[in-house]
Amino acid sequence: MRVSVIGTGYLGAVHAAGMAELGFDVVGVDVDPAKVEMLSNARMPFYEPDFEPLLETHVGGRLHFTTDITQAASADVHFVCVGTPQQHGSLAADLTYVDAAVDALMPHLADGSVVVGKSTVPVGTAQVLADRIRAEAPRGANVALAWNPEFLREGLAVKDTLHPDRLVFGVDAGEGGHAEEVLRRVYARTIAEDQTPVVVTDLPTAELVKVAANSFLATKISFINAMAEICEAAGADVTKLADAIGHDERIGRKFLNAGVGFGGGCLPKDIRAFSARAAELGASQSVAFLIEMDAINLRRREHVVNLVRTHLGHLPGRKVAVLGAAFKPDSDDVRDSPALSIAGALHLAGVQVAIYDPQAMPNAAKIFPTLGYADSVDEAVAGAEAVLHLTEWPEFRELDPAVMATQVARPLVIDGRNCLDAQAYRAAGWTYVGLGRP
Ligand code: NAD
Repeated sequence: MRVSVIGTGYLGAVHAAGMAELGFDVVGVDVDPAKVEMLSNARMPFYEPDFEPLLETHVGGRLHFTTDITQAASADVHFVCVGTPQQHGSLAADLTYVDAAVDALMPHLADGSVVVGKSTVPVGTAQVLADRIRAEAPRGANVALAWNPEFLREGLAVKDTLHPDRLVFGVDAGEGGHAEEVLRRVYARTIAEDQTPVVVTDLPTAELVKVAANSFLATKISFINAMAEICEAAGADVTKLADAIGHDERIGRKFLNAGVGFGGGCLPKDIRAFSARAAELGASQSVAFLIEMDAINLRRREHVVNLVRTHLGHLPGRKVAVLGAAFKPDSDDVRDSPALSIAGALHLAGVQVAIYDPQAMPNAAKIFPTLGYADSVDEAVAGAEAVLHLTEWPEFRELDPAVMATQVARPLVIDGRNCLDAQAYRAAGWTYVGLGRP
């Protein structure tokens, strides 16, 4: 079986390599020639642990990348993995890239092939595309469309691609079962080796599964951050509160870490697009809480800026070290990164920020070229009047507070991820400020 992957960004590039690892001949197609060039040389266009070895194993063998969509023509399955960012001036998702990918693919669709959407889209998109493909496929070719939403986590993308915790196959009721049969063949090894649960459903349910999952995760994070706000008002400790409620197995401890909140290329834009789509469907009340979750999340960023102001007073000319730029550790993705959003707000308030991140510096400098960057933690903290810990890279947790205390101008640390050793910092003479903690 031959597989094409249209769009080779964070999702598509790893998916393409994962499909090659599963034994298929794979062509990855992208409109970005620089990305294609790097992937064709088995180099990662973004940082993702364990991804490069997979490229090195398969590029030049059964995996190749191109900008030429005609090379997808002989594939039996086409995975659509292009971006669905937030529209400018609206909460809704921008489907331009999905439409363009399907337009480009359409003349090359062969009889019996299956188009499989993996991008996160507003509910109803898949049915529109299925109808279009049925009407416009060349020479009356019988082509099915399915939706197979992706749940990978950046930083764990290779593991999540090869060993997903579930597979969702959204299929078109009128299509006769061919798409499900093909998807079962594509994922046969994963299903057999890991006993991966497969949920087969209709197209709208499959689309909704993805945004419902992200809404739930965003809600869990914002819930604990709302509790952090209350803890701050009441002098209580949100980390202990999370431990205590997390012991209840109906609640669970995962995703209950209060801090500067969520960001990235998915959660924020997905909950906004879900709100916008629900409004179009006349069901805005059902997800009105998501707007509040978004607001709680963004308030935590402002809170950190306010904490800096509270501790340093007048901000212009102050020097602040920002540890972290990526939206999460083990990634260089800076899309809607809380760390950069806080650094940007401080910069606008006249602070001299010095940002350091182990992987995300080039991406950060691309979108915020006017911010200050440092080549190392040592350089970032030298002479700083506050150190902000905003992305929980393991190496930041391992920093020696006693050594750092000798480098800074003032030993004040704001732990935006609540995961530094507060006692060790205090013992080394630091003023340690966690979020939602006394
Ligand atoms: P991305 O921006 O990293 O990648 C999108 C890629 O599509 C880019 O390389 C772009 O050049 C390419 N592209 C755009 N138009 C194209 C076209 N017409 N033909 C071929 N290529 C085209 O985005 P991403 O993070 O990989 O996300 C892609 C989709 O997957 C989004 O809908 C996202 O919500 C969803 N998703 C992402 C993740 C994640 O962790 N990144 C996880 C699950 C789902």
